[in-house]
Amino acid sequence: MSDCIFCAIVDGDIPGRIVHETDHSLAFLDANPLAPGHTLVVPKEHHARLDEVPADAAADLFAAVNDLVPRVEAAVDADATNIGINNGPAAGQEVDHVHVHIVPRFEGDGGSPIHAVAGERPDLSDEELADIEAAISG
Ligand code: 5GP
Ligand code: ZN
Repeated sequence: MSDCIFCAIVDGDIPGRIVHETDHSLAFLDANPLAPGHTLVVPKEHHARLDEVPADAAADLFAAVNDLVPRVEAAVDADATNIGINNGPAAGQEVDHVHVHIVPRFEGDGGSPIHAVAGERPDLSDEELADIEAAISG
């Protein structure tokens, strides 16, 4: 049995409420949902961070998310969804197997947008922005 809880679900060693499966991806309900229908989509192969997932598996993962979103929304009559990845412990990742959260949202549910996940907004100068632009574009 794997040390990783999501590998254990993929391998069928522990039960999961599985809602979708493809060659490279598996989707199941979150055991401690933020909203009814909260779904996790994982690559079947164990990788901790998104950039470690091979391109074909990453494409399959996003296709599975794309396929699932309307089905999740319809299943719980949601008005919208937040879709996100806690990519690394500093971002709040607790299970070190890449997983995409699909969180159904409802008008007036009192939740927050993804803009609320970071701390205070930085006040960046043009020079700092130019440095970041150059560092990312390489
Ligand atoms: P993270 O903070 O790593 O992005 O989120 C981990 C998610 O996995 C949490 O939303 C948590 O409720 C969910 N989770 C943790 N253990 C299990 C489990 O054994 N089964 C399922 N289905 N979800 C789990
Ligand atoms: Zn794993």
